[in-house]
Amino acid sequence: MKVKCPTCQTDVNWEEKSEFRPFCCKRCQMIDLGDWATESNAIAGKPATNTNDAIAVDVEEIEALLAKQSDSFFTH
Ligand SMILES: [Zn+2]
Repeated sequence: MKVKCPTCQTDVNWEEKSEFRPFCCKRCQMIDLGDWATESNAIAGKPATNTNDAIAVDVEEIEALLAKQSDSFFTH
């Protein structure tokens, strides 16, 4: 049975001795694992987007605070 290496699309014989199946070699296996780690990092990075939203909210709150301070400054 032959499968295609998911990394480089090379035909790989699916055998007991094929240590890195479905990959053709250790390098392709490591590359695929690296991609998986990168995707995990991307998912782990999602809270960063939420943090940006939180910062945007903070900016609005700070601007509102500054507006209030300006009001009191001009009132007094
Ligand atoms: Zn490969």
